Amino acid sequence: MSVLSQKLAIKKKQGLYRTRRVLSSPQQPMVTVDGANYLAFCSNDYLGLANHPRVVAAFKRAADQYGVGSGASHLVLGHSKVHHQLEDALAEKVGRDRALLFSSGYMANVGVINALVDSGDTVFEDKLNHASLLDGGLISKAKFQRYLHNDIENLRGKLSVDNEKATENTKLVVTDSVFSMDGDIAPLTDLSSICQQQDAMLMVDDAHGFGVMGDKGAGALSASGLTQDNVPVLMATLGKALGTAGAFVAGSDELIEFLIQEARTYIYTTALPPAIAAATLESLQLLVDEDWRQDKLQQLIQRFRCGAQSLGLDLMASSTAIQPVLVGEPEKALAMSQKLQERGLLVTAIRPPTVPKGTARLRVTLSASHSEENIDQLLDGFSNL
Ligand SMILES: *Cc1c(COP(=O)(O)O)cnc(C)c1O
Repeated sequence: MSVLSQKLAIKKKQGLYRTRRVLSSPQQPMVTVDGANYLAFCSNDYLGLANHPRVVAAFKRAADQYGVGSGASHLVLGHSKVHHQLEDALAEKVGRDRALLFSSGYMANVGVINALVDSGDTVFEDKLNHASLLDGGLISKAKFQRYLHNDIENLRGKLSVDNEKATENTKLVVTDSVFSMDGDIAPLTDLSSICQQQDAMLMVDDAHGFGVMGDKGAGALSASGLTQDNVPVLMATLGKALGTAGAFVAGSDELIEFLIQEARTYIYTTALPPAIAAATLESLQLLVDEDWRQDKLQQLIQRFRCGAQSLGLDLMASSTAIQPVLVGEPEKALAMSQKLQERGLLVTAIRPPTVPKGTARLRVTLSASHSEENIDQLLDGFSNL
């Protein structure tokens, strides 16, 4: 056997083999997968904007005006008027000087961390941060430290040790706002004060908060009353609640100018299609015009949690649209996911290394486009699993 097929065989044996489902419908509660219809609880389309008629129409209009491909990177000739308008609108939405578009959240995180730190500096990351944040820290030349999940005292200890050794270096603390596999929220206010005390820079990834948390979806930082002065680096993605694609970083004029000069994942990649930017502008308007979507999502979350608790499911401490049901072993999580699928329900099994060993789970994600009946159907599916 070749090395690769050996490695693949081990993955299969461990219940860790990954496969893809082939979708032939838009992202919405009822999806068509391999010719069959399912009620799905797997998307990050929290507000149901990915296939919203106004977003689709904005995309089509912009494609008529700009064509499809942007044709170049932002710094060459790919930065169109609609990209620029979107940056202004995003900055205004999150109450910061400026915003800078990236082609994906993964690239934004890798690019920002690597632009901000260098050898001699230190990056401090929550253990459960998203892979793109961890990878960004790991490939930087800076010293890489992980602190215990949401543990301020643990972080304080690590920052003080670093401060004793080097006072002149950059200390960058990085956290998810809402943790993508657990759904819990970081202690953002405490993190911001400890960073101010210890002279560290704080970066928050609001991929799962932007659009759903805060007033009219302004995000987790706004929900906590934290500004650009408290948290200098804000990153959020557009492929989740906003229903489109790409990501942005927002902060001071100085930060954005610096990233334009230094962030390699910004400089050396093709700009998003302009029509995506136009569609995102429409999504931003929908956060305001259809602000019932945030409220409806909250109601569905409550309904699911109440029902799941009466079924005795092992829920995690999450108040967000990410509602994992803890299972334990990967094989069991897979078997449960398959059984749900036989009942017409799609829920993804999340296994190591995405989550720590022994904490495989079914990751239920809810959307404002689900109905109350959909939630009850899911709960029915979970009973007698
Ligand atoms: C999805 C996600 C990303 C990556 O964003 P993409 O635009 O999908 O590349 C980054 N951080 C977090 C916390 C995420 O959930």
